[in-house]
Amino acid sequence: MSASLDDLPLRPDLRGLTPYGAPQAPLPVALNVNENTHPVPEEVSADILDSIARALHEVNRYPDREFTALREGFAEYLGHGLTADQIWAGNGSNEVLQHLLQAFAGPGRTAFGFAPTYSMYPLLTRGTGADYVAGTRGVDYTLSAEDAAAQTDRAQPDVVFLCAPNNPTGTPLGLDVIEAVYDATDGIVIVDEAYQEFAPRDSRSALMLLPGRERLVVSRTMSKAFAFAGARVGYLAADPGLIDALRLVRLPYHLSALTQAAASAALRHAPAMLAMVDDIVAQRDRITATLDALGYEPFESWTNFVLFAGVEDPAATWRGLYDQGVLIRDVGIPRSLRVTAGTEAESTAFLDALASLGPGGARA
Ligand SMILES: *Cc1c(COP(=O)(O)O)cnc(C)c1O
Repeated sequence: MSASLDDLPLRPDLRGLTPYGAPQAPLPVALNVNENTHPVPEEVSADILDSIARALHEVNRYPDREFTALREGFAEYLGHGLTADQIWAGNGSNEVLQHLLQAFAGPGRTAFGFAPTYSMYPLLTRGTGADYVAGTRGVDYTLSAEDAAAQTDRAQPDVVFLCAPNNPTGTPLGLDVIEAVYDATDGIVIVDEAYQEFAPRDSRSALMLLPGRERLVVSRTMSKAFAFAGARVGYLAADPGLIDALRLVRLPYHLSALTQAAASAALRHAPAMLAMVDDIVAQRDRITATLDALGYEPFESWTNFVLFAGVEDPAATWRGLYDQGVLIRDVGIPRSLRVTAGTEAESTAFLDALASLGPGGARA
């Protein structure tokens, strides 16, 4: 026997919500959740295993609650003169975002983001009892500084999410937009740079805006560029005072000794872990060019995925690809689908399968 949610004394504000649910299907070509489809290089995984083995010898003890070595590793990796007291980490950047919302949102408060954007922002927000308000984007999903600031000012949010570059559209975001939004609110401004490593090499990170902005947060993840999604490691950089606020809401010892050991070891090999980024960017650009040649309308992407419009029936095309062993993502945007750039072979499998469905996916 299983109770339905209606039978349980569930919080009223959670009624009617649906959980995060990207399908997890065992298909040969999985390009649906923006993972890095390249495995961790052999020489790195050997070193990670050594580190985990050493950590196991002390696993009878609680881990370093302050994950000091790992914070030092992230500070060094990010550069920009950052120090360990400006770094926080969690089990995926989703947990890091949850810590931010637990500290700065909560009942009676509001978080704000520009739709369409990362689907977890509303879910994480509502999980803390806060309201989520969705703003809008311009044509091609871009945001101008003036418009973003005006919308922020109207929403009077306690927390603003700026996904840069944006998921699920791939759209880059100018630093001028971040500065304008910051100046338009007294709330916390979170710049989610989950895909920053896939942006052009000379593009500037919001990390350079941190000095003098104590309400600004830049979050990152090891899930995408670092090929580490299964290890669950995300992190952020912000003012040391803001990070102290996160200590109020985290669970004690939230980062296991094994996670800390694995992440620190992977960070020591950052260049090898990131070696596949250029290859993925090349596949992304090939996917964009081929989609264009097939008559679809791909949007500019600074990430490891491509959103494309011009799909006559997204659900049918999604199914037509699925039946050929290719899993991509229907993100609920009309006439559009999203595909992650995989290895050369995976990307080719996707493009061939899509081409077989005819113009606009009409034969799906
Ligand atoms: C994938 C993704 C994350 C990262 O999630 P993890 O919990 O670190 O795996 C965060 N933000 C965006 C926009 C993402 O697409």
